[in-house]
Amino acid sequence: MKQLQQFQKEFDAAHFPHWKDVSYDEKLLFLSTALAGEVGEFANFVKKRHRLKVAGEPHHAAYQEEMKEELVDVFIYLLILGNLLEMDIEKAFYQKSAKNSERFSHGSAQRPGN
Ligand SMILES: [Mg+2]
Repeated sequence: MKQLQQFQKEFDAAHFPHWKDVSYDEKLLFLSTALAGEVGEFANFVKKRHRLKVAGEPHHAAYQEEMKEELVDVFIYLLILGNLLEMDIEKAFYQKSAKNSERFSHGSAQRPGN
């Protein structure tokens, strides 16, 4: 994960050199809305896929590639935001997973279908 964060940091420095002059707050605002936008793009393809299903049309493979691409867009913004927050995403992931493991071990908050 550190390699991905470093790759994204270098990509951004190379492709968006003016970004270094933007304030932290402006970056946080822009990146948060951009992340939400990408989540929306992903959800839009889920909606389109569901419409096919409801209409009784073949839908199993519909929009699969589009959903994958939007999910990668979401991931890229997560990397950029993680870099902005100067966080080690992998370390934070495992810390949060440990919390979730404790939380879900009691059966108090289960995911749908569990
Ligand atoms: Mg997108």
